[in-house]
Amino acid sequence: MSTRAVPVAPRDDLRLVEGYHSPQLDVAVRLNTNESPYAPPDAFVERWLAELRVTPLNRYPDRAARELRDALGRHLGQPAERIFCANGSNEVLQTLLLAYAGHGRRALVHEPTYALHSHIARITGTEVVVAERNADFTIDPDAARALIADAQPIVVFACSPNNPTGTVEPPETIAGLLEASDGLIVVDEAYGEFAPHTAMDQVRDDGRLVVVRTYSKVWSMAALRLGFAVAPPWVVEQLEHVVLPYHLPAATQIAGRVALDLDDEMRDRVARLVSERERMSTALIRIDGVTPFPSGANFILFRVGGDAHAVWQALVQHGVLVRDCSGWQRLEGCLRVTVGTPDENDAFLTALRAAVTEVAR
Ligand code: PMP
Repeated sequence: MSTRAVPVAPRDDLRLVEGYHSPQLDVAVRLNTNESPYAPPDAFVERWLAELRVTPLNRYPDRAARELRDALGRHLGQPAERIFCANGSNEVLQTLLLAYAGHGRRALVHEPTYALHSHIARITGTEVVVAERNADFTIDPDAARALIADAQPIVVFACSPNNPTGTVEPPETIAGLLEASDGLIVVDEAYGEFAPHTAMDQVRDDGRLVVVRTYSKVWSMAALRLGFAVAPPWVVEQLEHVVLPYHLPAATQIAGRVALDLDDEMRDRVARLVSERERMSTALIRIDGVTPFPSGANFILFRVGGDAHAVWQALVQHGVLVRDCSGWQRLEGCLRVTVGTPDENDAFLTALRAAVTEVAR
């Protein structure tokens, strides 16, 4: 971070907060940001544009995103009153922290996990309490219980499947966190569609569980920025108080609703990506010195023997970009690859076999 003097200083507590970066390089195969490898179906784009054409663009969008929330509610089997939508799940997370955390309050994260949980906490002036995971990257319920009793966090994050490890938490762990805490338990299910189970069915009107999801992955809509929370109605009301008026553009609201008509196609895509994930895991195990971790997401974390950063660089030389996690605390030797199309995955596996051999030389 720059220490250069600036005419107006930002908040003192932001000085040590690093920005969030995901380096992009111009290579043939980009498997570093966990997006869908597939563009949205043509039928979606046509219906979306047709609706957009007859939308009065001089008017503000529906502030309550009523039609989108009704449609999502029907799709998820949840009442619309439990649904809050925003510009990507990052904005949902930020709104949750603006409403419930901030100065004098704490949020608990289980590291290693999605960096934005602690990043947004710090931006909102929230103190971050860090719990360590088990060696297999699952949440350690005893460690969490002790920390919760001690620090009394108002928000406890769980990420399932966890980014960047792919770990899926058993339902008992989420239930245990709810029991241990008086605060909100926020389960980030950005990759929930790829996992064998969800915490969404544990959301209750009189409970404290919030599940956060996104259209950026399965729904191939990362560019359109749409995420949502399924939460008790009293939480949704607070989020609506805090979020800026008319925050969700009409184009995004329409896209979120129209996409739901293509549910069958999306389910096929999930099945394809899950089967590719399993094929890649099996192939990774067979590469000398490479250890993949079990994943319930559309990406796989794997450890390489030797210099992981050099392996990452060699992959780039072979035209394949993955995420280099090897410099992150608790993830020494680890790289993360997004599941792409079968051709991209083959290109990655071929490049990795070559890279591992070249670096070992
Ligand atoms: N949560 C997790 C765990 C993620 O990995 C991501 C995206 N990388 C997000 C939330 C944010 O997704 P978006 O804002 O695109 O919905």
